[in-house]
Amino acid sequence: MQAKLKTTLLKFLKKYGYWIGLGLSIIVLITVVTIAATNKPAPVVDDDFVPTDTPEISFSSPITEMELMKNYSNSALQYNSTLNLWQAHKAIDFSAEEGTDVYAVMDGTITEVTYNYLMGNIVKLDIGGGITVVYASLASDVPVSAGDTVTKGSVIGKVSNTAKSEANDGAHLHLEVLLNGEAVDPALYLDLAEK
Ligand SMILES: [Zn+2]
Repeated sequence: MQAKLKTTLLKFLKKYGYWIGLGLSIIVLITVVTIAATNKPAPVVDDDFVPTDTPEISFSSPITEMELMKNYSNSALQYNSTLNLWQAHKAIDFSAEEGTDVYAVMDGTITEVTYNYLMGNIVKLDIGGGITVVYASLASDVPVSAGDTVTKGSVIGKVSNTAKSEANDGAHLHLEVLLNGEAVDPALYLDLAEK
């Protein structure tokens, strides 16, 4: 009886063994790939870029209450709950009420007023010395246009939540500073303790 069972089993394996093996391999492969895809990468070591020739420039506040929400990171990954991924954040986010005035941090020239889906309404302010200040997630009623010259402290826009890539963060100002086209830490130019 047992020998018969053994023979039947062997016959069965001979006939279907290849397909069972293949099926199991595919299941294992799918499991491994799924686990790998759902695992979030661990944040890497902070090695943020700091320019050695930091110019002696001090910005005035871009908004009255600089309530820090998300800090700058050049390569260290930060969790973006809207996109559900870890990414560098080459800007500082300040949370503020919808409609809060946003100010020019220095005298300068507006070089661009644009909109894109991920970062919302954007105003770029060239302040000279190779420095461009990028204000993003602004409300759509931007009071300045490309070519306008503005003075430090004048209103260049209002806080909103138009940056769809940071929608979960609510109304906030996403502030970038480009030094010769490279995003640097805005904190180099801002006194964050200042209110
Ligand atoms: Zn941001």
